[in-house]
Amino acid sequence: MRVHNFGAGPCTLPLAVLEEARAEFLDFAGSGMSLTEMSHRSDAYAEVHTAALDRARRVALLPDDFEVLLLQGGATLQFAMAPMNLLGPGASAGYVVAGAWGSKALASARKVGVAYSAWDGAESGYRRMPSPDEIRVDEGTRYLHVTTNETIGGIRMVMLPKPGTPLVADMSSEYLVRPIDWSRYDLVYGGVQKNLGPSGLALVFVRRSAIGDGTNLPDYLDYRWHMASESLGNTPAMFQVYLMGKILTRIEERGGIETLESEAEARASLLYGAIDESGGFYSSPVETAVRSLTNVVFRLPTPQLESAFLAEAERRHLVGLQGHRSVGGCRASLYAALDIESVAALVEHMAAFQMGAG
Ligand code: PMP
Repeated sequence: MRVHNFGAGPCTLPLAVLEEARAEFLDFAGSGMSLTEMSHRSDAYAEVHTAALDRARRVALLPDDFEVLLLQGGATLQFAMAPMNLLGPGASAGYVVAGAWGSKALASARKVGVAYSAWDGAESGYRRMPSPDEIRVDEGTRYLHVTTNETIGGIRMVMLPKPGTPLVADMSSEYLVRPIDWSRYDLVYGGVQKNLGPSGLALVFVRRSAIGDGTNLPDYLDYRWHMASESLGNTPAMFQVYLMGKILTRIEERGGIETLESEAEARASLLYGAIDESGGFYSSPVETAVRSLTNVVFRLPTPQLESAFLAEAERRHLVGLQGHRSVGGCRASLYAALDIESVAALVEHMAAFQMGAG
């Protein structure tokens, strides 16, 4: 039995990919061993690794002057590596803080360089995104950092900051379900454990000309070191790379980002529709225009009803619906591998629960 998994990450992955991985788990490509037992310098792994890099490049429609890196340390390490590699002496970085993740990114950047808040939505309770006019860009700003989708607050940046300053983006929770206008970015990164694979891997796209010389950085923290070795400078997260490669293959075969985006819109509109049509029993706390397509946050009239709703959901095999521990309420994460049938099952549960409570 497979549950309907609305977890915020790690989360549901494509069943066909899990089955394929199970079938070849003990004996990978006729090698007589599992991929997890294999040297990362073997030909068999080299093929997996290179194919995953190529696949990521193709699915992201990445221009040639960008590099793809497969790094450990999740998105969190990128909170530090981005300023370490991009901020030269005398330069600063502006951070658009629209939620918990943007706030963490700024806190890390401040420890390694000069970083400032270009906008902070704390006073709105992180329920909205800034209009481009509200974003402050100081003189000498090397890049503006944005979190295009705030996973906890459930909001997404619909309007990017004004052109002029290169963007650095954490796209973890909407990775490759949203088209990327590469002319605006120097760096895009994200943990893959939502749309693209298991945890333990960050997929990083960086414009080669944007990177400093990195002379003072320890190897692992230096983008150049990873670029020179095609992300094989040390032992990579092999199993993660392998699974991500399979998932990207599937994404490419099914039509790429465009398909993922329209599927995400269909899932989100089904669920927001149910919230909006519930006569206020279910409510979305965020500004309508910036509702996330992938993390749908909603409330019920009381915390008691929320607990009962979640308990009953579990009984119906609808799992992972608890809001983040810092904000409570409910949150359904609708990532790329979630079938629309799972959303339909949730909507059905919502209607039945409301009826029972009324
Ligand atoms: N950024 C965003 C937007 C996230 O949602 C998360 C994790 N939920 C992170 C960063 C941190 O990612 P990791 O756990 O891979 O370091």
